[in-house]
Amino acid sequence: MSSESAEHRTRKVIDRCVSCGHCRDLMNDTSCLYFPRLYQLRDRETAGGARISAAEMKQMLDLCNTCGICPCPTVQTWIRQAKDAFVERAGLPYSVRLIENVQFVGKLGGAAPRLANLLVGDSPVAVGLKRLAGLHPARRLPRFPLESFDSWAQSRGLTHMPQTAGRKVAYFAGCTARYLFPEVAKATVEVLQHNGIAVFVPEQKCCGMPTMLEGDRPFTFDRARFNLAELGKCVAAGFDIVCSCPTCGYLLKSVLREGAEYSEAYRSLVQRMSAAANGDADQVSARLALDDAALTGRSNARSAHGRQPWMLGLVPWKVFRDHGYFAEIDGLERLRVANHTYDLGEYLRELQREGQLNCEFGAVAARNVAYFAPCHQRQQDIGQPWMELLGLLPGVEPTQVGDGFDCCGQGGIMGFKKDFHETSLTIGARLTRKIAAAVPERLATDCLSCRLQFQQMLPYEVLHPVEILRDAYRAKHRGQAVFNGILRTFDRHDSCFALTADSRRE
Ligand code: SF4
Ligand code: SF4
Repeated sequence: MSSESAEHRTRKVIDRCVSCGHCRDLMNDTSCLYFPRLYQLRDRETAGGARISAAEMKQMLDLCNTCGICPCPTVQTWIRQAKDAFVERAGLPYSVRLIENVQFVGKLGGAAPRLANLLVGDSPVAVGLKRLAGLHPARRLPRFPLESFDSWAQSRGLTHMPQTAGRKVAYFAGCTARYLFPEVAKATVEVLQHNGIAVFVPEQKCCGMPTMLEGDRPFTFDRARFNLAELGKCVAAGFDIVCSCPTCGYLLKSVLREGAEYSEAYRSLVQRMSAAANGDADQVSARLALDDAALTGRSNARSAHGRQPWMLGLVPWKVFRDHGYFAEIDGLERLRVANHTYDLGEYLRELQREGQLNCEFGAVAARNVAYFAPCHQRQQDIGQPWMELLGLLPGVEPTQVGDGFDCCGQGGIMGFKKDFHETSLTIGARLTRKIAAAVPERLATDCLSCRLQFQQMLPYEVLHPVEILRDAYRAKHRGQAVFNGILRTFDRHDSCFALTADSRRE
């Protein structure tokens, strides 16, 4: 990061959005609290009021939970970098350092889950612990499962890379599923395996989103570098990377990719290919597509962006630069992982479109399923795969709740924090009102942060759609088992009759 001061960086993003002005009205109809505050502060200055102070800048930046709803990825990157600069100067409170490390907290609680659950319950000890950790006293804390997904996966040999020629998935489960909601990660494995796909759970660290939201740049980069190295090896070995958590998917697919097509590494690759193809951009595009597909047999829809001939024409222009948040990391390394990462819903829908999804579903217990597409799923530009998949289940009528401007407000760990709790509920209120009005039998969302927020604000049980799919497969299996049982009974009866007849004959 350059040596620009935190104030200078914040001023740059304020000026950009004031001179554009597009989000002044647009964001009024959304759950974003950052833009109304930005325009309010700037209007005060313009009217001759006090200049925006450093404290006000920091407080304004803290209102952004990186939901991705606003239209400019560059502006979102600048917001994060301005926040990083404030944190670099003042440091992070120890309590934030503790809770931003979701993996550490998950491992700690998971080491003695019964004791941890006693401590995070409603006891006076829990109130004291929340105060120490900087959590809001009214926040409901998730319970630690008796067995983490990691142990479950190890006991089933999923942590050894399978040697198989067919479709194979490297599953990036994400910390929340690994340590708090292993049932979601187990359902993912079950559904993939039910479709004949070999599943591998590679070594992985937190995707880095919670620490990025807190402005902890060194920690975030440490996680990103580790995951890029591990997942890069998986892609080289022919594995598609699949995420059941839309936030992990958004980070691996979109945030890592940002700017990578203007990186020096990508630029030189395209220039070399272009020289070999006598400057024919169509040939270069086709060659890049072949190279991508050669690794795993396919690449995601987003990967096509960097291969379009008009885009390749821009790549040699040095005026376009890699200004992405992760620009310090090699562009090709980022693209290799970004191009081969899939949201779980996107992946299963691709199977279905290719006629490879097992569509033998049994009936599940709910008809009216309300589904909320979380912000980071929407930002992946993959349409609504879970609505399509839920619509395949017999008797299920999924309805979508919330629109493209809704956010639950949890923002990873931000909703737990004492200072952000009320803001988080304010952001989420617009959406939870809509959900309550839909009076669903089942509430489904693929984001476990949203799940935590809905558990805080609503009385409904919340499921990941993959858990509903898993239930539908099991229901079919049970139905089939009962049917087979009846057949076997008839078989036995038939044998009895046959025996009796044979005995009579004798
Ligand atoms: S985020 Fe983009 S569109 Fe919105 S005001 Fe800023 S520059 Fe304009
Ligand atoms: S990312 Fe979301 S919270 Fe942040 S400024 Fe954009 S719309 Fe607002």
